[in-house]
Amino acid sequence: MKPKVAVFDFTCCEGCELQILNCEEEMPDLIATLDIVTFREAMTERSAYYDIAFIDGACSRRSEMVVLKEIRERAKMVIPIGACACLGGVNCLKNSYPMDEVLKAEYGEAARYYDTIPARPISAVIPIDFYIPGCPIVKEEFIRVAQEILAGKVPYQPNDPVCAECKIAGNVCVFDKGMTCLGPVTRGGCKATCVTGGATCWGCRGVIDEPNINAEKEILKKAGLSVEDIVRQFNLFNACQESMWK
Ligand code: SF4
Ligand code: SF4
Ligand code: SF4
Repeated sequence: MKPKVAVFDFTCCEGCELQILNCEEEMPDLIATLDIVTFREAMTERSAYYDIAFIDGACSRRSEMVVLKEIRERAKMVIPIGACACLGGVNCLKNSYPMDEVLKAEYGEAARYYDTIPARPISAVIPIDFYIPGCPIVKEEFIRVAQEILAGKVPYQPNDPVCAECKIAGNVCVFDKGMTCLGPVTRGGCKATCVTGGATCWGCRGVIDEPNINAEKEILKKAGLSVEDIVRQFNLFNACQESMWK
């Protein structure tokens, strides 16, 4: 029997699910080893029976908490995918405002029809078995993790900072160009794609295990950032972990 896989979405842009659909070349081999039984972005069929649940998006409504608990009861493995699901991501930017103000700003007079609570990662609502970081996820990483799980292995989770891959890519460090970067404390695995593309790392893959946040703050201060700027930079994707750098 092939394992049954379900993909769910909560509060997010669904870009991480799109990354799964972008695995066009690898999908035939993957589908030969598993059955996708629920995936709203890709198919109309649904099933209440699944072994592995991939979850895109943060939890930001009470109704989502109920659904998540039901998913946890049904699935043998629950795997959040992407910054929204793993960290809360950009959704957590609203958390520093009163929720009624947030609703009004977004929906105006229709705000009374909607429910919102401070956004949180999936792991804050239900136990998880693994996670695939990134905004969006790296599709090759999704395929690798899926293959490792299907082979009965504990998937590999990168824990080197983005700087390591940035050096391998031969990039000039953005600090030497007058910019700032969260690469020294951010979990690698993306091949430093943003820096290679001419931008900087905003920390979408979350922090590494045991990050040296104080050293990073010192580097950012030396680069001219105020304490408020530093918190703002960290908070773009990691606002739910704010206690770490405040
Ligand atoms: S992590 Fe990024 S790409 Fe993925 S759903 Fe959230 S906002 Fe979209
Ligand atoms: S640009 Fe960023 S990721 Fe690259 S080496 Fe410098 S600090 Fe590290
Ligand atoms: S470089 Fe930083 S912001 Fe860009 S994908 Fe990698 S972890 Fe995310």
